[in-house]
Amino acid sequence: MTTSHDQYTFQDPTTMFADIEPSAQYQEGSGLDAKLDDPADRGESTYRGTGRLAGRKALITGADSGIGAAVAIAYAREGADVVIAYLPEEEEDAQKVIALIEEAGQKGFGIAGDITDAAHCRALVAAAVDKLGGLDILVNNAGKQQHVEEFADISDDQFDETFKTNVYALFWITKAALPHLAPGSTIINTSSIQGYTPSPNLVDYATTKAAINTFSKALAQQLAPKGIRVNVVAPGPIWTPLQTAGGQPTESLPDVGSETPLGRWGQPAELAPAYVFLASPESSYVVGETLSVNGGMPTP
Ligand code: NAD
Ligand code: MG
Repeated sequence: MTTSHDQYTFQDPTTMFADIEPSAQYQEGSGLDAKLDDPADRGESTYRGTGRLAGRKALITGADSGIGAAVAIAYAREGADVVIAYLPEEEEDAQKVIALIEEAGQKGFGIAGDITDAAHCRALVAAAVDKLGGLDILVNNAGKQQHVEEFADISDDQFDETFKTNVYALFWITKAALPHLAPGSTIINTSSIQGYTPSPNLVDYATTKAAINTFSKALAQQLAPKGIRVNVVAPGPIWTPLQTAGGQPTESLPDVGSETPLGRWGQPAELAPAYVFLASPESSYVVGETLSVNGGMPTP
């Protein structure tokens, strides 16, 4: 990593990343970072680790791309070994993230599979524990978001898949991981501004994100006495493949960021420090909290 600035460099947040211009692009399936026609910034050339997660073992879902990839890069540079989980069609993105983890001098492993399948979720956790030799950070970050303008057009299959990916998988993976988490371990779930101020065309998705907030607040109280902290990161609009793969109407993509007080899209790189903070002992008294990283959009 050789750049003149890193995440600690003071900058005007309104003009940062001005060179990245999200376009009206559509991708099939879950989309790839490799195919974003103006690549997102995941901190590859800027994130500077300072040993904040030295020796930790992390499983991050949906970490082949977008926010999860930025978190994986940051965790590795902070000294953690990392298993990234993703869909088989995302192997190209996943291999690049694994290479970046290894470049940071850490162990990086990939496990492909569909987390809407309970058996895969259990196998994923077992494989991660096996590869890492334990587990003490779980980041439930994978997500499905498909906009549908008319409520009547949300198919039963979409409703089911959105809930399976965003809520059921979180339940299955967390349940499987718990027996392995010693005191000091942390669970971090990714929700969304949509959990607070839902868009009319994201009824199913927004509902799952509110569920994640509530799930996390309830579980956090139950696990705190065991020394396991549960917290949430709630992003605003972040330039990732999910957005180009039906997350928002294609034609709206250039303008989505202008709805925030900062007036621009966020980049995955700007999310990573929040996940590092919540995973590290610096946040030892932070439990059941939702940390919004959303460019200034108010949450109720
Ligand atoms: P992304 O497309 O880069 O990541 C989402 C990942 O979810 C995919 O890479 C994929 O690996 C995984 N995934 C989806 N369905 C899966 C399945 N059935 N099995 C296994 N893995 C599956 O997009 P992102 O924006 O970085 O999304 C990460 C998280 O951030 C999601 O939970 C998303 O809801 C949340 N989020 C994103 C935004 C945003 O604006 N991009 C805003 C708020 C919340
Ligand atoms: Mg992906």
